Amino acid sequence: MLDFNEMIGNFLRQELRPKEIGRYYPSEAGSCMRKSWYSYKSPKEVDKELIKVFEAGNMIHDFVVDVIKSERNAEVELLGAEVPFRFTEGEITISGRIDDIILVKIAGKQYIVEVKSTSALKYTKEPSEGHVMQLQIYMRQMGVHNGIILYVEKNTLQSKWFEIEYDAQKAEHALSRFRDLHSHLAENRLPGAEAKLVGAMAWQCKSCQYAGECAAAGLEEAQ
Ligand code: SF4
Repeated sequence: MLDFNEMIGNFLRQELRPKEIGRYYPSEAGSCMRKSWYSYKSPKEVDKELIKVFEAGNMIHDFVVDVIKSERNAEVELLGAEVPFRFTEGEITISGRIDDIILVKIAGKQYIVEVKSTSALKYTKEPSEGHVMQLQIYMRQMGVHNGIILYVEKNTLQSKWFEIEYDAQKAEHALSRFRDLHSHLAENRLPGAEAKLVGAMAWQCKSCQYAGECAAAGLEEAQ
């Protein structure tokens, strides 16, 4: 008998690709720094159920591009849906997945739209800090200082969106987190258990693949 769950899993299966120290991803700007550190030092395969969730997010992204492109929505012009993003500053390179962002023009003004899928829109009262940091990095580097974070609920296609103004300090703060992560990696120093120490990040511990290693290491940064 066919097992479609297994077939989808087979289709989406990914090879384990270790991350390169020095290369960082805007989508991880708000991740617990210790978790990010482990993902470079002790890479693990992404859980196959989580890969399915990511794929559903990609489908939502493509759907939003189709909505914007449609002649029925002439008030929004699609300028780019696969915008390359990569820059180097000192020892670090920041590169984004090209399908993370959509560039549009609304009433003569350019906007970067960051699309995020969610399972329950009712809990989305404000944009997540990590998503804002990600967008600030894009706005800084692309010189487009108007942004929108668009949340789309996967099972209803209802949406909620937030306009975000460029804030040079927030963009610098987001980049400084990558510099900090880089120095911890280069010096082989484990960062503190950030998500356990910062209340607003605590949710990240629930699905953390490194919970065991983290608990064994204690809360504090390795000296
Ligand atoms: S368990 Fe929590 S604090 Fe520890 S690495 Fe994972 S997300 Fe970070």
